[in-house]
Amino acid sequence: MGARRALTKARRLVVKVGSGLITSPGEGLDGKRLGALATDIAALVADRREVALVTSGAIVAGSARLGLSRGPRSIPEKQAAAAVGQSSLMWHYEQAFKRHGIKVGQVLLTGQDISDRGRYLNARNTLLALLDFGVLPIVNENDTVAVDEIKVGDNDNLAALVAHLIDAQLLVLLTDVDGLYTGDPRRDPAARRLETVEAVTEEVQRFVFDEAGRVSVGGMSTKLEAAQKAAASGIGMVIASGRDPGTLGRLIRGEPVGTYFLPRDDRLAARKRWIAFAVPPQGRLTVDAGARKALTERGKSLLPSGLVSVEGDFSAGEVVALAEPDGPEFARGLVNYDAGELRKIRGAKTAEIEKALGYKGLAEVIHRDNLVVLTGPGGC
Ligand code: GLU
Repeated sequence: MGARRALTKARRLVVKVGSGLITSPGEGLDGKRLGALATDIAALVADRREVALVTSGAIVAGSARLGLSRGPRSIPEKQAAAAVGQSSLMWHYEQAFKRHGIKVGQVLLTGQDISDRGRYLNARNTLLALLDFGVLPIVNENDTVAVDEIKVGDNDNLAALVAHLIDAQLLVLLTDVDGLYTGDPRRDPAARRLETVEAVTEEVQRFVFDEAGRVSVGGMSTKLEAAQKAAASGIGMVIASGRDPGTLGRLIRGEPVGTYFLPRDDRLAARKRWIAFAVPPQGRLTVDAGARKALTERGKSLLPSGLVSVEGDFSAGEVVALAEPDGPEFARGLVNYDAGELRKIRGAKTAEIEKALGYKGLAEVIHRDNLVVLTGPGGC
């Protein structure tokens, strides 16, 4: 059983289900699938485990109910679809869990509820109170009010944040595929499922991103982001198929279903977790290969000389994402300069900073103490 033994000990879990699992296109929610899911979760609850469910499906379900066969076209249409779909979603879950004697409670969150410390603690207290009452919290993004600026944006990342919020020991993402593959299993017969992933390294990211940094396997990039967040918070994560009944029970018994992402044992300090995950990055810095190596392998700070380009309009002190040209994000940090200043000093040697700015600035664009490397062990 090896590393999977840890799964058998998880007492508090977050389970996330994707839209594709519980809806069928044009027809809305699939009551049978929801029923099977409720049965699986009820078995965990009967085994004295606490579960919070993060569910997608509001927009797809609402679109079907509103007869929007082409899908919502504008943001207000999408938000209207979410409003209709969310109540339908909850009605179905209420019925499905009632059969097992389980009460449910709806919790709708936005990114702001997690990035703002006061709201974060509030959300945490509510979720913990629900669990204390023996109620199953059912969480979704508050899509009817959330616009891009305040959104988490996808429920994989939301589920990882909820797992962190309630100190869960395990996060399970149930989806259409039974794990992370070394290629796209629909096109590549040689693609094989990874049973365990020790860290989301560049090699692992290459299974999901093609050469040009585009996402090549549907939906997996946000799952890897979720895995990074979970791992950094000391929480294990499994990607497994939600199509086969009994999957949750099997994985909690330590059977080799899905892909298991191990938690880091060097769990990040709370401040670094906040930099890494709680606040959405306000901009993106592209760095050259040498700078990336210095940051990820040698624990160095980011200097202007390694900076290739600057995207976004951010101020000093805000969080920005770091990537190589055309590559996925590999780190995040609190930046010492605002975007305009960085555009002036990018590529500059330390001795040239003062001339480029007209005043003496700091040598580091991001100090190593304010930098979190996301792509693998070490570096933090
Ligand atoms: N919150 C969205 C919905 O309920 C889903 C977002 C996602 O699946 O990532 O429709």
